[in-house]
Amino acid sequence: MSNFKTSDFMNTMRTQTWSNGRHLVRCVKVIPETHDVMTFTFSMNEPVLFYFKPGQFVTLELDIAEERIMRSYTISSSPSIPYSFSITVKRVAGGVVSNWLHDNLKSGDQIAVHGPVGNFNCMDFPAEKVLLLSGGVGITPVMSMARWWFNTDSEVDMVFAHSARSPKDIIYAKELEYMSTRIDNFKMHLICEQTNIGQSWGGYRGYLNTHMLQLMAPDLAEREVFCCGPELYMKAVRSMLQELGFDMSRYHEESFGETPEKNVELAEKHAEEAALEDKVPKNLVTLRIPEMDIMKPVELNGILNEAAAGVGVNIPKACGVGICGSCRVKVVHGQYEMDHNGGISQEEIDLGYVLSCCTRIKGDIEVEL
Ligand SMILES: Cc1cc2nc3c(=O)[nH]c(=O)nc-3n(C[C@H](O)[C@H](O)[C@H](O)COP(=O)(O)OP(=O)(O)OC[C@H]3O[C@@H](n4cnc5c(N)ncnc54)[C@H](O)[C@@H]3O)c2cc1C
Repeated sequence: MSNFKTSDFMNTMRTQTWSNGRHLVRCVKVIPETHDVMTFTFSMNEPVLFYFKPGQFVTLELDIAEERIMRSYTISSSPSIPYSFSITVKRVAGGVVSNWLHDNLKSGDQIAVHGPVGNFNCMDFPAEKVLLLSGGVGITPVMSMARWWFNTDSEVDMVFAHSARSPKDIIYAKELEYMSTRIDNFKMHLICEQTNIGQSWGGYRGYLNTHMLQLMAPDLAEREVFCCGPELYMKAVRSMLQELGFDMSRYHEESFGETPEKNVELAEKHAEEAALEDKVPKNLVTLRIPEMDIMKPVELNGILNEAAAGVGVNIPKACGVGICGSCRVKVVHGQYEMDHNGGISQEEIDLGYVLSCCTRIKGDIEVEL
């Protein structure tokens, strides 16, 4: 529950506005959505307006089993309800953070979050007509967009097509139904892979395909498309849209990372590569971190975050692909190349900051944490 008094809201001088950075927030609500998905709502002790662009995400900083660990989660709520924000988390088999949140985080607990950030949002790509496509927990960013347009009485014409394993896995089912009965610019389409005997189902069955897309959005060519879901789902969506002749410059997607099977494959591949590399003489340069008294040889062309870990310095990271900005450090001297995905501003780059997860070391380098 929130600790605000009504008088706090009336006092505009005391109301702060949130901006990208590190914030201590308090969990105020935990809502079970489905059998393996929960929503966690956060606010601060003082009234704060949590403005962000629908589709953006935050990175949680947690201490689990005495280890600092970071994970990114989309803000599933809408900035139209600005005194709090929510994330919606699906349990991942064997996953450290998702299961910890489900099993431990409760109303009243305080945690640190970084953000909000993210290029996948509906403010930067304004459109009169949109097609929102999601699979599983990938519904979170497009739900934030739909909630925004719904709550602000926008005229944006929304086609919302969500794919789930089965009817019991549909996240926000009741709210989607409510929205589709209240306004006529929100057309909801649900697609379930499986339905069980004894359970009625009036939506589409199977996997999303080009016929369904043409039925749901006959005016597809006029729409901006926002898509989020498992990698295989998004790959299928891209090829369907290409087959239908869609202008892909109007297609936007968000990846939550590799699927668990892919993670295992990648871990094995990296282990094999590391074993092979051990046999090849390495080209070494020097990594200096004066504040920790570190001056050690590291591999030329290595990733800065991994190189730091190799000399015993943990630079917390979350997304691993240069979007969340949580692994930012400053390069004082040295050569490097960064290939980020929007998690750092040009102003920061000009000041010498880099995202260590996507920065390659190209010569001797000195870093400030
Ligand atoms: C921008 C962004 C937005 C996101 N938004 C959401 C969201 O709204 N909701 C949501 O639920 N998720 C979201 N995610 C995904 C989220 O960040 C986490 O990746 C997810 O919750 C899993 O984290 P975890 O710590 O539970 O799993 P992890 O501990 O990271 O494990 C993931 C999987 O890999 C396996 N694994 C881990 N390490 C190894 C290893 N060494 N060898 C083999 N297998 C291994 C685990 O068993 C598990 O199956 C988002 C991600 C990004 C990047």
